[in-house]
Amino acid sequence: MNIILLGAPGAGKGTQATKISDQYGLPHISTGDIFRENIKNQTEIGLLAKSYIDKGQLVSDEVTCKIVENRIARSDCEKGYMLDGFPRTIVQAEALDKITSIDLVINIDVDFSLVMDRICGRRVCKDCGESYHVSTLNGVATCSRCGGELTQRKDDNPETVQSRLDVYAKQTAPLIDYYTKKGLLFNVKSDENSTPDSTFAKVSAKLDSLLK
Ligand code: ADP
Ligand code: ZN
Repeated sequence: MNIILLGAPGAGKGTQATKISDQYGLPHISTGDIFRENIKNQTEIGLLAKSYIDKGQLVSDEVTCKIVENRIARSDCEKGYMLDGFPRTIVQAEALDKITSIDLVINIDVDFSLVMDRICGRRVCKDCGESYHVSTLNGVATCSRCGGELTQRKDDNPETVQSRLDVYAKQTAPLIDYYTKKGLLFNVKSDENSTPDSTFAKVSAKLDSLLK
């Protein structure tokens, strides 16, 4: 099964992706993680992507599509995969349609008013990418999943988050309509009472019904 996770920055895509990957064994492909890895290793792609990411803008469709095309061609994706953070524009969605077929698009629908605090309080595991929020860490600085060190992403500051939200509204939100028209969209509402587990309960019920 080939899945796309859609949602604004801070919607909780990465958190759900980890849970889906753990439970269903699908490789988790996050274009944001791929870019950050490239930045860390100072590759050509990393150097190119860094200035965009630091400003909260998108890396070019051309570069991003090429990365995804190469990644899903790898053998671990034969039985399916999960895309997180891609596609982010209509151009990317159309390019994806040319190289693969998507079975489900999970849209995590969150109010913009909630995401600023979520993102600015976010801490991410250096090793496995798991996300946490400072309010629930009680000062703990290591990942409960793998023991890795928790850090704050450079683009998780109020100014950059605002431009990521603007970019999302303009360029990514139209994908909701795009995939609704294809009959692929599964909408999951996430509000102030939602937890990672309550959201995952809805997501896994849907996946189980499709896998039956
Ligand atoms: P978030 O969803 O929390 O904003 P990501 O980790 O998915 O963060 O992405 C971080 C940054 O990486 C984006 O702001 C953008 O600059 C770049 N990026 C990630 N995915 C894409 C994509 N599909 N197309 C263009 N740029 C991307
Ligand atoms: Zn970890």
